[in-house]
Amino acid sequence: MKALFHKSKNSFLRFYLSIGSSKACPLCGWTGHSFIKRCYPYKPAPTYICPNCGSSERHRFSYLALKDKLVNKYAECLHFAPEKFIEPWLRSISEKYLSVDLCSPNAMQQMDIINLQLPDNSFSLIWCSHVLEHIDNDKKAMSELFRVLRPSGMAVIMVPIYGDSTYEDPELKTPEERLRHFKQEDHVRLYGLDISNRLENVGFQVDMISTSNLSADVKSRYIIEYPSTKEIFLCSKI
Ligand SMILES: [Zn+2]
Repeated sequence: MKALFHKSKNSFLRFYLSIGSSKACPLCGWTGHSFIKRCYPYKPAPTYICPNCGSSERHRFSYLALKDKLVNKYAECLHFAPEKFIEPWLRSISEKYLSVDLCSPNAMQQMDIINLQLPDNSFSLIWCSHVLEHIDNDKKAMSELFRVLRPSGMAVIMVPIYGDSTYEDPELKTPEERLRHFKQEDHVRLYGLDISNRLENVGFQVDMISTSNLSADVKSRYIIEYPSTKEIFLCSKI
């Protein structure tokens, strides 16, 4: 009975939010007057979730920023920690698609990003969003991404960004310390914009796209701006 009440309450909320058309989700086509607002302690702002597909700001931003850039069919796509909101699009622009994760059942294969069981130069498109901030040895992870990317391929990398300089302290190991210092129990650092130096140090050529490249109308309609996810790092291997 309780579950039934919860389900009908959710259905009513979705119906109510879908009245009007001032807001839209580019990933699933939902329209309405408001996304679902969620607040989390330690996070810099409320986040706005699509009532239909569950996408958040960074998913909608990355799609809108890249849908016209990633138009060619990619031969092979490697998707880390696969987001269900992004997967159908990546599949549609790829001949072959593989998703991997250390433990998520949503991934096609279990794999450790610091020790990929994949050949050199084997993927023309890599999607790695909000993964590296969980990895102790991010230099090794970045090297592995560089190793498996084909020359002239593209690696799309996103992490939460807080300011210019990366803050990390390997002595902070407990979930409580990490929550307090890195804003999430399983984050091991706060990246700054200087992540681009780390990516360049393993060999990538790095271009950055920002939400500032998109118009105010687009930002308002699709709600794509979040304080710590305003950047996408496009990494190529020349
Ligand atoms: Zn959606």
